[in-house]
Amino acid sequence: MKVVVLVGGVGGARFLLGVQAALGLPPVGAAKKDVPHEVTAVVNTGDDVWMHGLRVCPDLDTCMYTLGGGIDTERGWGHAGETWTVKQELAAYGAEPTWFGLGDKDIATHLIRSRMLRAGYPLSAVTEALCARWQPGLRLLPMSDDRVETHVVVDDPDDPEQRKALHFQEWWVRYRAELPAHTIVPVGAEESVPAPGVLDAIGEADAVLLAPSNPVVSVGTVLSVPGVREALRKTEAGVVGLSPIIEGRALRGMADACLGAIGVETTAEAVGRHYGSRQTSEEGVLDGWLVQSGEAVSVPGVAVRGVPLLMSDVDATARMARAAFELCGVDVD
Ligand code: GDP
Ligand code: CA
Repeated sequence: MKVVVLVGGVGGARFLLGVQAALGLPPVGAAKKDVPHEVTAVVNTGDDVWMHGLRVCPDLDTCMYTLGGGIDTERGWGHAGETWTVKQELAAYGAEPTWFGLGDKDIATHLIRSRMLRAGYPLSAVTEALCARWQPGLRLLPMSDDRVETHVVVDDPDDPEQRKALHFQEWWVRYRAELPAHTIVPVGAEESVPAPGVLDAIGEADAVLLAPSNPVVSVGTVLSVPGVREALRKTEAGVVGLSPIIEGRALRGMADACLGAIGVETTAEAVGRHYGSRQTSEEGVLDGWLVQSGEAVSVPGVAVRGVPLLMSDVDATARMARAAFELCGVDVD
């Protein structure tokens, strides 16, 4: 069976572990030969940023480290057993920015990526090369090889009369999304094209899932790449999303600040309606929408089901993925 999942970072990576478990694929660290299913994760790259001359791809790396068994499971991002010598040395030089943590081991990834990008390889090829080490057990595709960077328009903290566009990472990490956002814009998206393989994977899929990732700056950014939304609307596969919002709250994150900026309430119903129905709305992408059990949610033209949506461990997450496959109309047993 062929499966495509649209994902961001931490929430997306955790969900992918559940998808693998639901499909009976080898767990993290096990040999990955002769797997019966083909899973493609289309990953948000709007968070990507140049830092100290290095290209950092937070969501791709979170997926790659998580699926490859190298993630710091407490933090949810970066390497396990990380050290911070380079960060301390940069701080000793007074090198800006200081608010972004690059761990020593992580830097090796960014050095290789940056060197390959400068040599002319596209990000999709670089990602494939990095995955040769990590063996994530599925195909990780950047949404696009083109530079797309999410920016957030805020009141200038230094001059309240002015507005200022911050790179998403600065807003998220430095300001912890506490500066109210006027708008959130995936800069470069309009001119971008999907990375090789993205549209084909969606077109050939038996099931397409929207991970319970941030609907604005993760899944929303992937959907902003021209052609992706259209591919979702015309694929023969069922398209099912999982709500990242449970009982009106975003889990482990500040997704509410992003939803507010685009005028969408922080509820499973509002996010489901924002994604919209493939059947009955012009821009919609969903056939099905999974929400937390017990919540009364209605999304016109979309089949809504309630299931436990807390990714507390891999088994619980696998049950979510199974429910999503069922709603897609595919049998994974
Ligand atoms: P990021 O790129 O690291 O911010 O991660 P994602 O965009 O992939 O995922 C962040 C989203 O995951 C947040 O909006 C959370 O609401 C959602 N999330 C985190 N943990 C859970 C969980 O256990 N269940 C559900 N349904 N959503 C979750
Ligand atoms: Ca992210």
